[in-house]
Amino acid sequence: MRLLEVILKTVETCNINCSYCYFYVDTSVSERQITKFNKKIISIDVIEQLVLFLRNGVKKMKIDLMRIVFHGGEPLLQNKSDFDHMCSTLVNGLSEHVNLEFGIQTNGICIHYAWLELFSKYNISPGISLDGPAKYNDMQRIDFSGRGTHERVVKGIRKTQEFVNSGRIKRLSTISVIDARYSAKEVFDHFARELEIKGMSFLLPDYNYDTFPAHQEQTGLNIEDYGNFLCELFESWINYDDDSIDIVLFRQIVMLMMGGKTVLMADTGPVSSCDDGDSLPILTVYHDGRISPDDTYLTTDKNINSKNKTLSNSTFEEFTESDQVKILKEIRRNTPTACLNCSWLKICNGGASVNRYSSERGFDNPSIYCSALQMLYKHIENKLLIDGMISAPFSAEAPLSLETYEAT
Ligand code: SF4
Repeated sequence: MRLLEVILKTVETCNINCSYCYFYVDTSVSERQITKFNKKIISIDVIEQLVLFLRNGVKKMKIDLMRIVFHGGEPLLQNKSDFDHMCSTLVNGLSEHVNLEFGIQTNGICIHYAWLELFSKYNISPGISLDGPAKYNDMQRIDFSGRGTHERVVKGIRKTQEFVNSGRIKRLSTISVIDARYSAKEVFDHFARELEIKGMSFLLPDYNYDTFPAHQEQTGLNIEDYGNFLCELFESWINYDDDSIDIVLFRQIVMLMMGGKTVLMADTGPVSSCDDGDSLPILTVYHDGRISPDDTYLTTDKNINSKNKTLSNSTFEEFTESDQVKILKEIRRNTPTACLNCSWLKICNGGASVNRYSSERGFDNPSIYCSALQMLYKHIENKLLIDGMISAPFSAEAPLSLETYEAT
């Protein structure tokens, strides 16, 4: 199964002002406010160019499944009739050539029934960003007046759940950025008990060796605090004992420890794939038709996100052979030297590459969260041993050589 994931930046402006947003990493608050009033919204011309570009890619690169995620900024700032027209153009232009799936990543504030009807019409599964109960979420997820957003987001979640419960929308998931100042148990309980969320993703923040020290100075947090958060979150999930609740990160680690093989399509979590060598780079398409690989690398080597290619001046094949994609492939191929003898390598592979970066050594570092990840792996391994789900410690296996690792 060859999958292409497309991050489609339909609206490159936002109605809120989260303090950690990577998309505006180099942008001052006043610049963000200017951007807010000059909405950068994708046009139907760009969508038509995208259809041709992708159709050509599907044929040449033998893509079986295409997942298009509407992204921003905030994608629900688009006019609804334009959104409808955009989706129908994509469906009409692509669905005969490839299996097509849609998702949308939204802050949830603008969700109301008319939007949900459109999600239902195009089978779009929403991911809604929320970091926990109001007292935590509203520390960083604030609007341009400095007001917290929790209450407005929860209203959007409740409406979405009505559609999920009546079968008109397949699923709803939440995406949360971890802040180790929060109580993981309170965060989990808020999602599971109060909001009845079934699919949760928790992301470690995009810090790296250059940026973590300032975060540490500002918050007093160290890496072990993130390890404690992850372990407490895992315990809360296990003790809740509800199989219908999925936390992507934990499911993947457990599967890998029990001998499964997980291939992550987006390199955004600490568990990296045992790459099957056949994966395609994530394609990010901006509102004006420029393209680049995965834009989370904005916080690292700026060359990866140089946007000199557009839908109209290049082909999908040229994109996959571009310098930026070559750099990314190189990063993924080269396990960090310091990780080569790590007994967790098979499940960790150096962590998410955005977290490995330093301006001094590039990506040849273990994840900045290495010790936190090791705490989590050990914790999960102990749990699996106690419960008899594995018979021997995973970490006691002889460290893999790079050659053996690549062959698995
Ligand atoms: S050394 Fe750290 S980052 Fe590298 S594979 Fe091991 S746990 Fe992961």
